[in-house]
Amino acid sequence: MNLDLTPEHELLRRTVRAFAEERVAPVAEELDRDHRFPYDLVAELGELGLMGMTIPEEYGGAGTDTVSYAIAVEELTRIDSSVAITVAAHHSLGTLPIFYFGNEEQKREWLPQLASGERLAAFGLTEPDAGSDAGATRTRAELRDGEWVVNGAKMFITNAGTDISACVTITALTGDGEISNIIVPNGTPGYEISPPMEKLGWRASDTRELSFKDVAVPERNLLGPRGEGFRQFLTILDGGRISVAAMGVGLAQGAYDLAYAYARERRQFGKPIAQFQAVQFALADMATEIEAGRNLVYRAAWLKDQGRPFALEAAMAKLYTGELSHRAANAALQIHGGYGFMDESPISRLYRDQKILEIGEGTNEVQRMVIARHLGL
Ligand SMILES: Cc1cc2nc3c(=O)[nH]c(=O)nc-3n(C[C@H](O)[C@H](O)[C@H](O)COP(=O)(O)OP(=O)(O)OC[C@H]3O[C@@H](n4cnc5c(N)ncnc54)[C@H](O)[C@@H]3O)c2cc1C
Repeated sequence: MNLDLTPEHELLRRTVRAFAEERVAPVAEELDRDHRFPYDLVAELGELGLMGMTIPEEYGGAGTDTVSYAIAVEELTRIDSSVAITVAAHHSLGTLPIFYFGNEEQKREWLPQLASGERLAAFGLTEPDAGSDAGATRTRAELRDGEWVVNGAKMFITNAGTDISACVTITALTGDGEISNIIVPNGTPGYEISPPMEKLGWRASDTRELSFKDVAVPERNLLGPRGEGFRQFLTILDGGRISVAAMGVGLAQGAYDLAYAYARERRQFGKPIAQFQAVQFALADMATEIEAGRNLVYRAAWLKDQGRPFALEAAMAKLYTGELSHRAANAALQIHGGYGFMDESPISRLYRDQKILEIGEGTNEVQRMVIARHLGL
């Protein structure tokens, strides 16, 4: 058994960490305050090969393994969640469905522009009345004269409405109880995108409501076999959970790093607060739990890379790191005292950005349901 990361993994971590610290950290607060999508950073991430990491090189990606991808998402989230979710949603939700289930023509059409980060893709599963119960989709697609005609609505969709968004893959009913995935290009008549939604966190990331009124797309935009949409989105969510779990570790690590530095610098009662045992114990607990969470995430990613079943481990990693990041953000802000409550303090942004990690890609309750099912309950 060897628990060491490879030299390539370590190099990747150093590269992404340097990018996050040098390029993202200086603008993160401003982007968050202005609710401004990070176009320039996305372009730079594309140049670094971080927008299509696990997509093979023949389709314009970087051809890395999932462990590398988890490390990159972790390092970005350590500094800023809006940038990290932009990368993670684009890769795992927007691009991978086309890579996994697309035919050769669809892959050649979409993947190079997506894997390079030149354009973004979204995945539209959630609807106003289909959240945790994602199979309850009401959006319909009818085949008429060689075209799918789509009617319905999607809710909270990441990356759907930026200036560089290319398409959204949606789940739609194509028959009674039959769900299929269909690619809808941006700009198709009848496909309406709401203004950006106002959010507690992830304020620089793009979140939209989508509506489809008699939206006609070519029959060939069906992704994979008709009726396979339910199975496909479960596969997508299993992998996506590794991304969000990596975000949980990254956010917890970022919160820890801020609290650690602050505790050594802030003096009360004549000494740095890091010398008080209560503060030391809070940091010791965070460091321990982060180590546990990181191991869960890397193991789930490693299993995926081995081509072995990983759905249970991904759900466990997502659940544990969601709750870990909650505890870590809370404890880290506590160590900052009143200064942590101020907008100018990065920990306040991490605190706000944390909550969605317990909701997106399946709530904590949904993860427990998935885990229980795998346990045979
Ligand atoms: C910022 C943001 C970005 C997002 N990006 C995307 C995206 O790109 N694509 C996409 O498709 N979706 C996206 N989502 C949607 C996200 O995945 C859903 O919000 C999530 O799955 C929960 O669905 P819901 O919000 O409808 O909550 P609900 O399903 O209504 O849940 C409400 C509460 O009830 C609980 N609950 C529900 N059912 C059960 C049950 N059977 N047992 C116990 N408790 C239960 C839930 O755990 C939760 O606490 C995004 C959401 C947000 C907020």
